[in-house]
Amino acid sequence: METKKWIVDIDVDKKNSYQQLKEAAHYLQRNEVIAFPTETVYGLGANATSDAAVAKIFAAKGRPSDNPLIVHIAELGQLLEAVEMVSDKAQKLIEAFWPGPLTIIFKKKDGIFSSLVTAGLDTVAIRMPDHPLAIALIRAAGLPIAAPSANCSGKPSPTTAHHVWEDLQGRIAGIVDGGETGVGLESTVLDCTSGEFPIILRPGGITKEAIERVIGKVQLDPAMMNEKQTPKSPGMKYTHYAPNVPMYLMAGNWEKYNELIKQKRQAGLKVGILATAETSKYYDADLVLSCGERNHLHTVAHCLYDTLRDFNKSNVDVIFAETFPKDGVGAAIMNRLEKAAGHRWLESDPRNN
Ligand code: AMP
Ligand code: MG
Repeated sequence: METKKWIVDIDVDKKNSYQQLKEAAHYLQRNEVIAFPTETVYGLGANATSDAAVAKIFAAKGRPSDNPLIVHIAELGQLLEAVEMVSDKAQKLIEAFWPGPLTIIFKKKDGIFSSLVTAGLDTVAIRMPDHPLAIALIRAAGLPIAAPSANCSGKPSPTTAHHVWEDLQGRIAGIVDGGETGVGLESTVLDCTSGEFPIILRPGGITKEAIERVIGKVQLDPAMMNEKQTPKSPGMKYTHYAPNVPMYLMAGNWEKYNELIKQKRQAGLKVGILATAETSKYYDADLVLSCGERNHLHTVAHCLYDTLRDFNKSNVDVIFAETFPKDGVGAAIMNRLEKAAGHRWLESDPRNN
């Protein structure tokens, strides 16, 4: 299949931009699958009401069919049409964070979405993206749009149109190229259907602390802390975001690891380090890449996937990655790093490795 590319100015009101988006929207109306930018990562969108359209998302990504999709909307009316009810807490969250990187799980109405979107669950995950092109595209299509990240399943999510092209060219009908995405990590997924306290199923762009300021206590899905528990969010059980070679997390300062790096290199392995701007000069490795400033975790979130993809283009045999405190956006960064590393940590005393 030929993959069309629409290069669209972020200023939607520019005449050419709008025409390009309208053309892309026609593809969605014809039940084709296209990628588009959001404020988190690039999404791979399709008409959420059509089995045929949604099936194409799973096929293009190679995504397991038991992993439900997030439905993206542009108007609150689309939410009210689709869900049984919006609780008081959900209402407050919508007022505080939509449009934005917070996905909320609701009890769904039957007969609205393709059952492939919800993987047969009686709930549906919905969000309103905070990106002018995403909103204009969804509006122009006049449809709710199911959209997971626009990468091959298991790989780091795409933060540029070029990443999407690398993964899905020839497998999807088109890509709306609107430049780099902002947050760089996926949305926070919050289940508002279960019991007294909402549960964070996936940490993301909106932090637990920010949510609690609006609705009080929320819980973390215990599976996020313990890899052996089954997550409530089906997608969280899969390895994700993984580079092509094994990655290990470093528990502590760089000083401890240069000896281990030396040993690995003497054993003939090429060692890559995922470092930060502040620390990258200290490592004696084959390739040291910085994923942003340790003191500005938002830059780390923004650059993380791009840096993981850069390792895939290098010839390293193993990656050691720095780690971060789990406060604020650090929770989402560490969730992705732990998954990318398959929860493998280096011993804090490297002589034990
Ligand atoms: P992605 O589409 O790759 O951003 O992933 C969407 C995430 O939301 C996955 O972890 C899904 O398992 C999760 N999700 C989507 N719908 C639901 C739902 N109804 N209940 C629980 N988790 C969901
Ligand atoms: Mg994804």
